Amino acid sequence: MRFAVFSDLHANLEATEAVMADAHARDCTHYVCLGDLVGYNANPHECVEIVRNLDCPVVKGNHDEQACLNESSRGFNELAEQAITWTREHITEADKEWLSELRMTRQVRDFTIVHATLDTPNEWGYVFNNLDAVASFTYQHTPVCFFGHTHVAGAFVRDDGVKRVKTEQLPIEPGKKYFINTGSVGQPRDGDPRAAYCIYDTEMNIVEQRRVRYDMPKTQRKIIDAGLPRLLADRLELGR
Ligand code: ZN
Repeated sequence: MRFAVFSDLHANLEATEAVMADAHARDCTHYVCLGDLVGYNANPHECVEIVRNLDCPVVKGNHDEQACLNESSRGFNELAEQAITWTREHITEADKEWLSELRMTRQVRDFTIVHATLDTPNEWGYVFNNLDAVASFTYQHTPVCFFGHTHVAGAFVRDDGVKRVKTEQLPIEPGKKYFINTGSVGQPRDGDPRAAYCIYDTEMNIVEQRRVRYDMPKTQRKIIDAGLPRLLADRLELGR
């Protein structure tokens, strides 16, 4: 099986469509979504609809959670807050109901998926370094787990110790554990503005990082036309 594993679409329709087309062209047979379908960009309803129609395993992100509330509870900066307030008014009640019912973690075949961390998945901590990864590995009972939330592609491998590795072509070897960030479809923050996702080939035992170009000027225009903060359009081309 070839799984297209993707995260942090953040209402970026053009990036989401480009990733879906790339996954199809690369013979993916299954789809898995790591959450944050909405927030920041201008097509939250459309992105929810695409993922809902895939009928694939999905876990909840912090923006998905906040979009379903009447007002924000905690933890959002001003930019995210402005975007989520706009988002609440531009998704349907059915979208909110579907998002609110998403689970925090899931097992898919023999791997696990989570949006933020495995140790405290509903506290939305960030795994940026080896120490953060150690905490998640303690709760990881499958050889492979995919996560998102940081918008930074890359993987942590636990063998004798924990080390950070790139995911261009990552072989999954027996006896090791892998905590893999697919990067973000709709708002990459690792300096590469192209949409990011991973392909997990479970027969070849390999995870491949993909980066996909999309019609970014169109996405930026929509953000500005929607009255969302201009910074959200500018940051897309920086990949920050
Ligand atoms: Zn996110």
